[in-house]
Amino acid sequence: MQLQNSALWRTQALINGEWLAGSRQFAVLNPADGSVLAQVADLGADDTRRAIEAAAAAMPAWQQLPAVQRSNVLWRWYELLLDNQEDLARLMTAEQGKPLAESRGEIAYGASYVRWFAEEARRVYGDIIPLPQADRRGLVIHQPVGVVAAITPWNFPNAMIARKVAPALAAGCAVVLKPAAETPLSALAMAELALQAGVPAGIFNVITATDAPAVGAEMTSNPQVRKVTFTGSTPVGKLLLQQCATTVKRTSMELGGNAPVIIFDDADLDLAINGTLAAKFRNAGQTCICSNRLLVQAGIYPEFVRRLQEAVAAFRVGNGMDEGVTQGPLISPQAVAKVHAKVQAAQAGGAQLVCGGELSPLGEYFYPPTILTGVTPAMAVWQEEIFGPVAPVLKFTTEAEAIALANDTNAGLAAYLFSRDMGRCWRVSEALQYGMVGVNETAISSEQIPFGGVKESGSGREGSKYGLQDYLETKYICMGGL
Ligand code: ADP
Repeated sequence: MQLQNSALWRTQALINGEWLAGSRQFAVLNPADGSVLAQVADLGADDTRRAIEAAAAAMPAWQQLPAVQRSNVLWRWYELLLDNQEDLARLMTAEQGKPLAESRGEIAYGASYVRWFAEEARRVYGDIIPLPQADRRGLVIHQPVGVVAAITPWNFPNAMIARKVAPALAAGCAVVLKPAAETPLSALAMAELALQAGVPAGIFNVITATDAPAVGAEMTSNPQVRKVTFTGSTPVGKLLLQQCATTVKRTSMELGGNAPVIIFDDADLDLAINGTLAAKFRNAGQTCICSNRLLVQAGIYPEFVRRLQEAVAAFRVGNGMDEGVTQGPLISPQAVAKVHAKVQAAQAGGAQLVCGGELSPLGEYFYPPTILTGVTPAMAVWQEEIFGPVAPVLKFTTEAEAIALANDTNAGLAAYLFSRDMGRCWRVSEALQYGMVGVNETAISSEQIPFGGVKESGSGREGSKYGLQDYLETKYICMGGL
């Protein structure tokens, strides 16, 4: 494909500042039409080990730089990401499918983390603790956790990397990244810009690979890796946690969600409709904070469903590169099949189709925006993360019932509620067992806030002043003999 800046077209992996074609390659497909976009280096466990060694060797010099110098490099990276926003967005839409406007937004969103951690890099403070002995003081300093292995998914091919690599680099760590095999081009273009920004060889390595278990096994067992940070599915997160136990690594896990949106009778309906649509159908429903379950109070239920249907009817599904398209393809035909199976099972269990629900005439990568009513908590569409453009709606009566339904899941990432009653907003926010709650708002994410979940949605926080802590160790020094 044609890019304004041809340097961003990278199909080789990056180890110790050198681009590597590898002995094998894998195809990257465009989900809008199934065509082959590129052949990318397919590396394995041995290459991963070499990257980890390179990272460990490069890290001491990076760690010892004054923080302001690491900050300056991150600032340059931030500027380069924005200077190349259009190319990066087109690459993303080509390999991931989301509408170009969403891709542009993600490039800016990802870059915002790089800027934030360029700023935060200079604010790693310690403490001095008064001790009971007159001749001693307790000191606390924060040091980089060590070599970081990062594994990222395909749904946000840029931002999920920026959120991990930027704080790691700010803290003084070196990173070995394995991006998803569906979307390696975005990762490699980011790495190219990081090199241009002055990130030293070995500090940011990218292992492109199809054998994720082999690469993951090396990352989680190699004693030189001190931290594994992962965004992806809950089963893979659990596996990585088990594997990390053998060498007791620090971990951050951003796993699956099952977000409820609770719409109370007293909600501002315009806000609730717009917020619900944005949270449900962005990226064709393939985000971990997508509203997965719509709980609507009985008093406004009929009007809410009618207005939701009207709004969804205005959507345009198609190739994300085309002007005016609001929903692109899903990532793969397998993803479409999974979503469709959940919809069919719900219908078989008694749910009613308001719209969508049929395989798309646009082809095997597409699924129409779908609304299901009469859903029950027993259905897979309610219990499991859908990761597709399907909105299951359930009617409830009381606040207590809504809270119980919302919390009845192993996931605990994001939840949303719409109400004009201040007391209810507080009560329900506090009662929801989630890491993030949006009240009358679903666009809750930004670099300033701590993004992360509880329960089986994971641990650790990305962004905000807390995000840097995930890449720092706390060291106590007892200063005696004063
Ligand atoms: P999804 O179903 O959304 O693709 P995954 O959890 O399978 O979610 O993928 C997220 C990331 O985890 C991808 O980079 C993928 O290659 C990687 N991955 C999948 N399985 C493993 C594994 N066994 N070990 C390490 N990484 C894995």
